Amino acid sequence: MQFEIFSLFPSVFKPYFEVSILQKALENGLININIHNIRDWTFDKHHVTDDTPYGGGGGMVMKPEPIFTSVEDVLGKPPKCPVILMSPQGRPFNHAIAREMATFPQIAIICGRYEGIDERVRQYLITDQFSIGDFVITGGELPAMMIVDAISRYIPGVLGDPTGAEDDSFSNGLLEYPHYTKPEEFRGWKVPEVLLNGHHAKIEAWRREQSIIRTFLQRPDLLDIDKFSKKERQIIESLKNENKNNSSNTINHID
Ligand code: SAM
Repeated sequence: MQFEIFSLFPSVFKPYFEVSILQKALENGLININIHNIRDWTFDKHHVTDDTPYGGGGGMVMKPEPIFTSVEDVLGKPPKCPVILMSPQGRPFNHAIAREMATFPQIAIICGRYEGIDERVRQYLITDQFSIGDFVITGGELPAMMIVDAISRYIPGVLGDPTGAEDDSFSNGLLEYPHYTKPEEFRGWKVPEVLLNGHHAKIEAWRREQSIIRTFLQRPDLLDIDKFSKKERQIIESLKNENKNNSSNTINHID
């Protein structure tokens, strides 16, 4: 899978992509990340990429010419792959979008800066826009790194454990169960007994129940009651009753 990233600050990507899992994926040729400096497609003396907004107001706006020219130079006119703009006004990015994006052989990502980009880029160049949350940060580079990371995890072979992404939070509609490692006892806090006995069916059942409890407490909006067995629905009912009787319910209380 090939990522084509268009940015005014290309140097920020290297440190993140050149460590750990993504570095291995790059070395193994599972992903390829090309960073394009939008400024290389300016043809005036001062390499200007932004200008004041029509209609007045503060801040600068990224000019359309270098963005159109860079994207079309690299990807053709019109581009044949998804062209994504990182924007707080975009669709909230999530695991389902990451999984879908991982099926494309190539995607382009445009990183905004300043007040954002000239609206004509949004209207006539991009095919989609993704947000990483309802807050505004100074540039699209971090959001781009986040989505490249999330998408790469769904590319076969990128994660050491092939089922890794499928076990993670959200993949099955639930948050993931709690993890423990050595030591078995730390400051008097013990690892749950069930995880120590090697009984796989019991461990699976415990993990599933913990996932449901955790999702109920942290992200009840994710719970799709139709997807649960009768026993699991009973767990949720008892959690609801417990919650009603104890308004100070917290995750520590349930754990
Ligand atoms: N004036 C814009 C607005 O209010 O919608 C915000 C511009 S922001 C300061 C500059 C750039 O950072 C955006 O063009 C976008 O690329 C990126 N950015 C900021 N917050 C983001 C978010 N939550 N998700 C994705 N990209 C974001």
